[in-house]
Amino acid sequence: MEMTARSPSYYTATIAEESDYPVCQGSHEVDIAIIGGGFTGVATAVELAERGFRVAIVEQNKIGWGASGRNGGQVTGSLSGDEAMRKQMRQHLGDDVDDFIWALRWRGHAIIEERVRRYGIACDLKHGHLHAAMKPAHMDELRASFDEARARGMGDDVTLLDQAGVRDHLQSDLYVGALKNTRNLHLHPLNLCLGEARAAHGLGALVFEHSEVLEIVHGDRPAVITRNGRINAAQVVLAGDVYHKLEPAKLAGKIFPAMGGIVTTAPLGELARTLNPQDLAVYDCRFVLDYYRFTADGRLLFGGGANYSGRDSRDIAGELRPCIERTFPQLKGVQIDFQWSCAMGIVINRIPQLGKLSSNVWYCQGYSGHGIATSHIMGEIMAEAVSGTLERFDTFAQCRHVRVPAGRLLGNPLLAAGMWYYQMLEKLR
Ligand SMILES: Cc1cc2nc3c(=O)[nH]c(=O)nc-3n(C[C@H](O)[C@H](O)[C@H](O)COP(=O)(O)OP(=O)(O)OC[C@H]3O[C@@H](n4cnc5c(N)ncnc54)[C@H](O)[C@@H]3O)c2cc1C
Repeated sequence: MEMTARSPSYYTATIAEESDYPVCQGSHEVDIAIIGGGFTGVATAVELAERGFRVAIVEQNKIGWGASGRNGGQVTGSLSGDEAMRKQMRQHLGDDVDDFIWALRWRGHAIIEERVRRYGIACDLKHGHLHAAMKPAHMDELRASFDEARARGMGDDVTLLDQAGVRDHLQSDLYVGALKNTRNLHLHPLNLCLGEARAAHGLGALVFEHSEVLEIVHGDRPAVITRNGRINAAQVVLAGDVYHKLEPAKLAGKIFPAMGGIVTTAPLGELARTLNPQDLAVYDCRFVLDYYRFTADGRLLFGGGANYSGRDSRDIAGELRPCIERTFPQLKGVQIDFQWSCAMGIVINRIPQLGKLSSNVWYCQGYSGHGIATSHIMGEIMAEAVSGTLERFDTFAQCRHVRVPAGRLLGNPLLAAGMWYYQMLEKLR
């Protein structure tokens, strides 16, 4: 059987405890079978296992193999499609829509912090982000976010910084200002995902690796089929994001892969502290943005750009080095120790896609590059839904989504054109 190992990265080189779950063989009976061992699948499993359900996670490669184990590690308070959500959900929620979205925006942080504490997950969890403005127009957005946070009682967590204020936090001349947010988090995402899977396993969940689900059999008691095994369940949750090809009649053309690249430098020693004394995670205000932070061992972990063609053919270090040197000229010629890329699931209107494929088969996917907090929120919502509380699930499920005919064939060129258009608008601001 072909087994896909992890794709090498800084994260795989610093795994706290590698997973070693069995291949799914023979027949199993559970309450809920979950397809996909990324944050969505694993977070849903933890929620359900904590509620006493017998759960199975079925992962085609390794736990955290996809975007969950390869991302920037920045836990932001953005759901990506906040504005589109506000418009569509107003029909469903009326005047409560703003409160609903605001509460949701911070819910993932609370779940992650509580879970890390409860299960003792070592994942370098830290507080503090700078959302940085590269031109005055960006400051208007940041000021609006600042005002909203203060009006909603989060004033202690946010500070609006001018150019000199940014320089007190970051040895970079690139920014005209920034919004500092100390509620936001950053962490080692692969170690979080592995730690949560361990927690679910400890609560009795079955976890299978190297077990691709080839088919979902619908019926009164649905089943997921792997090459050597079968799991019968009362309900199934499909959490394969952009990596699965299951249920094409209902799901093809709804979500598209964009490739993102990340590098980490050699450890920088004292220089890391000098460049970023408060150890904040940083991202800028552009539509296609740079994002970075320092790792626990003092490397700069830097991500940027995104390739919306869906193809992965880039010299990542070659592309990101100029961005690093523009941000921190002090790092000219710095050694790059790791580089990797990964697909993220992009949804055209940027609203997470939650729905049902039949009466007892559910899916949840598509956080458009803002998935660490969102996947944990969705894990909670999916667990609520399969155990009978549908309110928040329905709020998402009733949102309309653009579906591109001919799916992946036509979808990515269209997406690439759309992204080019947004980047042009960005340049005009
Ligand atoms: C380069 C990059 C940087 C990012 N940076 C950030 C960031 O800083 N902050 C942030 O909030 N978000 C970030 N994201 C987004 C975030 O990582 C994702 O939104 C999130 O991890 C998605 O989680 P998931 O569990 O839904 O999907 P995934 O983590 O992709 O997991 C899906 C899993 O399903 C498995 N699977 C698929 N099909 C099958 C099948 N048939 N059978 C069995 N298993 C299957 C896959 O192998 C995979 O492991 C980034 C993404 C990328 C790619």
